[in-house]
Amino acid sequence: MAIQVLPIMAFKDNYIWCLINEKTNHCIVVDPGEAKPVLTFLKRLNLSLDAMFITHHHWDHTNGIKGIVKAHSVPVYGPAKEKVLRVTHPVDEEDIIELENWPLNFRVLAIPGHTLGHIAFSGNELLFCGDTLFSAGCGRLFEGTAEQMLASLNKLSQLPDETKVYCGHEYTLNNLHFAQAIEPDNQHIKEYLEQVRQLRQKNLPSLPTVLATERLVNPFLRCDSLQVISSVKKHSGKIFGSPIETFAYLRQWKNNYK
Ligand SMILES: [Zn+2]
Repeated sequence: MAIQVLPIMAFKDNYIWCLINEKTNHCIVVDPGEAKPVLTFLKRLNLSLDAMFITHHHWDHTNGIKGIVKAHSVPVYGPAKEKVLRVTHPVDEEDIIELENWPLNFRVLAIPGHTLGHIAFSGNELLFCGDTLFSAGCGRLFEGTAEQMLASLNKLSQLPDETKVYCGHEYTLNNLHFAQAIEPDNQHIKEYLEQVRQLRQKNLPSLPTVLATERLVNPFLRCDSLQVISSVKKHSGKIFGSPIETFAYLRQWKNNYK
């Protein structure tokens, strides 16, 4: 299947993802925080826009919708549990999105935590997960609880190993420094950090990442691993009884990590 996914840069470190059906030159745009770079990109590559996908209501993922629908009147799929202006197709867990002339369908996953109605779009081992799962990290808990976020991350972590993860921001390097502080002896983190450093030096995206890698390097997907548990114990001076408590502490630690 000839689907190419390209990043459109927005603001400081946002990625607006563009899925291109190479056979037809039709495309889908995910989380357009800005209109202008998207419109320029569509024109430059001579692409015809079929739809937009929105993962959550934050302005840096939605502010471009208005300007884009002015030029391209397309369906906008967004979270049913959040108020996002100009969403024409509110979707939630278990919904399947079928678009005409697209060789794949998209499954909607409810992944609350960063925001309460946050959703992800998954299809054919591609995952668009907004600000929930980042490479080597996860989103902040702006609206949801640690319990909700951990359940959402666990849900994403159950997708197949080869799943390519397209996150909303380029935070990988910073996340990996934290991951290394949590697990200094983790060889996978060392290797991945080197790989990401090289990409970022050339100003290339570190994304997509793959789930198999995330399970090895992302401390927030490893709250039941001995290394993470022992690191949290050392830092907090406490023993936590559950992965939820470990996760909550880890998220708090990361919030204050410089
Ligand atoms: Zn956000």
